Amino acid sequence: MSAITNHMPTAELQALDAAHHMHPFTNGDELNAKGARVITRAKGVTLTDSEGNQILDAMAGLWCVNIGYGREELAEVAARQMRELPYYNTFFQTTHVPAIALANKLAELAPGDLNHVFFAGSGSEANDTNIRMVRTYWAMKGKPTKSVIISRKNAYHGSSVGSGSLGGMTYMHAQGGMPIPDIHHINQPHWYAEGGDMTPEEFGLARARELEEAILELGEDRVAAFIAEPVQGAGGVIIPPETYWPEIQRICDKYEILLIADEVICGFGRTGTWFGSITMGLRPDIMTIAKGLSSGYQPIGGSIVSDEVAAVIGSGEFNHGYTYSGHPVAAAVALENLRILEEERVVDHVRDVAAPHLKAKWEALSDHPLVGEARIIGLMGSLALTPHKDSRAKFASDAGTVGLICRERCFANNLVMRHVGDRMIISPPLVITPEEIDTLIARATKALDECHAELKERDLLKAAS
Ligand SMILES: *Cc1c(COP(=O)(O)O)cnc(C)c1O
Repeated sequence: MSAITNHMPTAELQALDAAHHMHPFTNGDELNAKGARVITRAKGVTLTDSEGNQILDAMAGLWCVNIGYGREELAEVAARQMRELPYYNTFFQTTHVPAIALANKLAELAPGDLNHVFFAGSGSEANDTNIRMVRTYWAMKGKPTKSVIISRKNAYHGSSVGSGSLGGMTYMHAQGGMPIPDIHHINQPHWYAEGGDMTPEEFGLARARELEEAILELGEDRVAAFIAEPVQGAGGVIIPPETYWPEIQRICDKYEILLIADEVICGFGRTGTWFGSITMGLRPDIMTIAKGLSSGYQPIGGSIVSDEVAAVIGSGEFNHGYTYSGHPVAAAVALENLRILEEERVVDHVRDVAAPHLKAKWEALSDHPLVGEARIIGLMGSLALTPHKDSRAKFASDAGTVGLICRERCFANNLVMRHVGDRMIISPPLVITPEEIDTLIARATKALDECHAELKERDLLKAAS
């Protein structure tokens, strides 16, 4: 076969893709019938596809390209590291400079006494590490019955068997024999969809207290840890009511339950501080990191662990690790990414410039006839689409029908905005400028107008009864 390149006609690339490439979270037959969009290059916040369209990527890839596309420094560091030491492991009493340097940098950036890093290749792997680590922690402390991990419905913690079990996506559990034993899911703090007549504050407290109820029901001697995203990402950018996190922290403290903050999306500036745990005032024992750690330029994740947990785990042999734990090229690229975030004050840019500019315009979208609520924290936002604003009604159509129509209208207007059911979500690169935010909002508004018109035309503006 001749080389497959960017210069081939789109239809040929699509045919080759359909013939041999299986896509994640995709109905293969449906995709192959219409052909995948081929992305050929990217710079800053802008993707280019094989037809020459210039698309504003308001999802930063998959919540990860925080530094923006096309940073030469990261390519240079990767090339240099590959020439010097492309690979070595850290299993058998060896180490290397990129892993040492990155672990030290992460210990410096992470809050509190989170000073120790176990590396993985992704967020899923890191959460699998966390499952084994918290259970091993309690076993080493002489409490092997403490093995249950409490998580939440509609949480996302990855797609491996372990991390997918931690997650609360029922459509994932329906395939492949998940969840594994001793994972317990409580309800999520999603006021808009589930809050009924309660105020958000009442609802936040009620949902947090489900953690206490679960601990009492399961027995304190059975529960190892609670895991949650500071702000749920893939579940639809769900920002909990203000009462939620303080109550969760109180309960974890009271019952000595380890708190795992899954910072895979919130970490490294997304919410306007270095970690979502800082924004939410949490004191986790373990933080899961990935995505923004390398801005997606290399696959890398990890668990940042407290002094106490590291001391206990370190007192014996932890029979766990990945060939690519602390991979030198990935670690070197992550370190360079963190250098740029710090030196260019990207987190300050989010907090002081980009987030305030986006917040004002994003929240104004709640005036649109299709939008029931527009929420945003830092640079992650969501729009709840509704046929009837006042009652927070759902559409009569299957969940996701309207969201998909809206996403297609966004794509047609050169904007990547994702849908989760009938919620639209954004998570743009952290380096986005006010001018680019204005473009994002203009395209989103046009897409919403076109979506609204299409729903009217197709008689899809009806509310579920
Ligand atoms: C994406 C994500 C993961 C999984 O990370 P992968 O690198 O895809 O394995 C875990 N937790 C959260 C919160 C995520 O958003």
